[in-house]
Amino acid sequence: MYNSFMDLLVYFLNDLRQKALVKYNLKIKTAVKINLKGSRLIGQCIKEGRKSYIIRLHAKLLKNYRARYIKDVLTHEFAHAVQMELFNKSRPHGREWKSVMEGLSGVLYKKTNIDYCLKNDRTLKTYRYRCSCQEHFITSIRHNKIIRGDSIYKCKKCGQILKFAQ
Ligand SMILES: [Zn+2]
Ligand SMILES: [Zn+2]
Repeated sequence: MYNSFMDLLVYFLNDLRQKALVKYNLKIKTAVKINLKGSRLIGQCIKEGRKSYIIRLHAKLLKNYRARYIKDVLTHEFAHAVQMELFNKSRPHGREWKSVMEGLSGVLYKKTNIDYCLKNDRTLKTYRYRCSCQEHFITSIRHNKIIRGDSIYKCKKCGQILKFAQ
């Protein structure tokens, strides 16, 4: 499922590494982990060792925004890695980081105007159903199928057809 945008991710990352080498004479090792969840961070760059960094990306945003997210967030986080190598002390999104962003992207830095939507990422609404042995919680997608008469769901334990319990 990830195949095509994983390829894109590898492509972008190699491109950034190449630019860091050409522009800053830096050989940076980066491991990308797609393991951010929830609504706190859309990306993260962690120093792991000398010239070695872990870039954490958000699984859901990667899936939903693909190339846009990779381009924006991977560049942003990779710029932090370059910044940390070049400058001992510098603010996370200050002058030095911006100059690296411009160096890597080749264009003047502009704050991204994409509002990556994490706040609307609520869990799906569920509906309560019953059989003779227990309560079941069904997603709105399944619930709508039942209402339309497209699907019937049976309890795996007792075999009874599930009934909407309000
Ligand atoms: Zn940042
Ligand atoms: Zn049952």
